[in-house]
Amino acid sequence: MDTTRYDVVIVGGGAAGLSAATTLGRALRSVLVIDSGTPRNAPAAGIHGYLSRDGMNPGELLSIGRSEVLSYGGTVIDGDAVSARRTPDGFEVILGDARRFSGRRLLVATGLADELPPIDGLREQWGKGVVHCPYCHGWEIRGQRIGVLGTGPLSVHQALLFRQWSREITLFLNDTLEPTDEEWEKLAGRSVTVVDGAVASVDAVDGVLTGITLRQGSSFDVQALAVGTRMEARSALLESLGLSSQVHPSGAGRFIETDAMGATAVRGVFAAGNVSNLMAQVITAAAEGVMTGAGINADLIEEETRWAVDGHFGPFSAASEAAVSKILLGIRRHGLGDGQTAGMGPAAT
Ligand SMILES: Cc1cc2nc3c(=O)[nH]c(=O)nc-3n(C[C@H](O)[C@H](O)[C@H](O)COP(=O)(O)OP(=O)(O)OC[C@H]3O[C@@H](n4cnc5c(N)ncnc54)[C@H](O)[C@@H]3O)c2cc1C
Repeated sequence: MDTTRYDVVIVGGGAAGLSAATTLGRALRSVLVIDSGTPRNAPAAGIHGYLSRDGMNPGELLSIGRSEVLSYGGTVIDGDAVSARRTPDGFEVILGDARRFSGRRLLVATGLADELPPIDGLREQWGKGVVHCPYCHGWEIRGQRIGVLGTGPLSVHQALLFRQWSREITLFLNDTLEPTDEEWEKLAGRSVTVVDGAVASVDAVDGVLTGITLRQGSSFDVQALAVGTRMEARSALLESLGLSSQVHPSGAGRFIETDAMGATAVRGVFAAGNVSNLMAQVITAAAEGVMTGAGINADLIEEETRWAVDGHFGPFSAASEAAVSKILLGIRRHGLGDGQTAGMGPAAT
């Protein structure tokens, strides 16, 4: 067992967790990051939409991030946190291999899990020919024949969104989507082709997506497939501390609610990145990590200031000191003589 009591234990070493750790390290805080090494965008070849890092491999970004955390005195370990519990002076995090770590504050930056529809060949193409976010992949597939898989009510919106990147959009209803009259009008207005029937497979040749085959046998030649996944916060650790995930207003998944500085409803427990913001991209998750790091530092400063005040007055509170002073010194406690005005010296006896 590591007996160090860290200022902050961070579970999750993605963009959010590492950014928070860097912020806290630069604030002279002792920080431990525990990471299981499965960031959400691992299947993608490059990160897009991150100013100054366009196209960088996701693993490279995290490796640089880890070095920065270490350079400010932080510690990063590989491990899978399975539960956490409150202790008299903070939190203890328990790993799958029974290691235990304790900290005064806990930040959970575990990201989210994309639940993919169970269609043959789809998982193998995830992050390559099968994409979800036009801001991450739209430029790379601009002008191509793009399919959109019907997975729920948001798929019509997704088809209209991807229409910005290509004129050749085909929406596969996949026996799960029934557009409203208004949506049919919008799809027709934007020349989106709509195909009825359940999708059986995502087809590929030499690892490159080539088309979609329906259960009834017909095939469609598409070069990319957009799929709206169900996004589930990886919130087991937070739930072990009594928090519950909330349904996202869009219906796209579940997340953990926090305030603007990352504080959850459980005192001392914070969350940042995709676990609390399903829509966060890498740069957003990193920014939330910075804000939450600052929020945790402020919370620790408040606690330390309280300790300092209590320690300064020993067994006496500030209020009792003031009361005793008033009884003994009367108005002279302000530097004034009784019955005299300021600057006139002590009262005559
Ligand atoms: C295929 C794909 C491509 C994408 N492309 C882009 C893109 O081009 N640009 C962009 O901005 N965004 C992109 N995204 C979105 C991007 O992945 C997220 O915005 C980003 O990963 C969120 O960062 P995060 O730190 O919140 O979570 P993550 O990056 O998922 O990091 C969470 C970390 O926590 C760890 N963890 C989880 N549970 C535990 C546990 N119990 N114990 C220990 N560690 C744990 C995980 O191993 C992981 O390392 C893409 C997403 C996908 C799916």
